[in-house]
Amino acid sequence: MKWGQALLDLLFPCCCPGCGKVTGAERPWCEDCLRTFWDPRLLSRSHSRELEGCYACCRYAGALRSCIIQLKYNGRKNRGRVFPMLLARFPWWDRLASYDLAVPIPLSAARKESRGYNQCDLIFQPYMESIGKFYDPDFLVRLRDTKTQSELDREARLRNVKGAFHINRGRSVKGRRILLLDDVYTTGATMREAAQELRRAGAASVMGLAVASGAI
Ligand SMILES: [Zn+2]
Repeated sequence: MKWGQALLDLLFPCCCPGCGKVTGAERPWCEDCLRTFWDPRLLSRSHSRELEGCYACCRYAGALRSCIIQLKYNGRKNRGRVFPMLLARFPWWDRLASYDLAVPIPLSAARKESRGYNQCDLIFQPYMESIGKFYDPDFLVRLRDTKTQSELDREARLRNVKGAFHINRGRSVKGRRILLLDDVYTTGATMREAAQELRRAGAASVMGLAVASGAI
């Protein structure tokens, strides 16, 4: 560990977001809490014409779910720090090696302005850049504000995201292999819709990665 980091840890000890046990900034989760939600998998029904599939690192449960909710709805921007450790433990980065462009699911301009940030950028950007992926926070644009997905049933989710995404001006997608990133995968409607837009514009392949999912 670097001396600067060691000193910071000493002065401001980092605690496990689940149980409060003193841990370290680079490895905030303790093993006991991690065990309650850690569940890396390729989601069983995530494959479609547009999307190769979607991996998830964790179950959307317990302390991890709380962290995501705090980050999204309670303005707890510093919760972003608990995610790089999880991404670093993801066991199949080798399978994603050819996907060199990392694209987050965007928020609508209105929602991004009210929240102040896209939680995906806080969750993924530092880690993606550390492993050499090109991370473009503005590759996709979300055209209209949509209701919070969690308030809607399956049918409504599909209607809700239809035509919601466009590729930003000046971005070229032809032949690219894209890793599409989202915080939570629920029904997959959002990710499929974004993937469809990328494929329509000529992306060679789109693979998904979500930090958490309630799907199996
Ligand atoms: Zn813990």
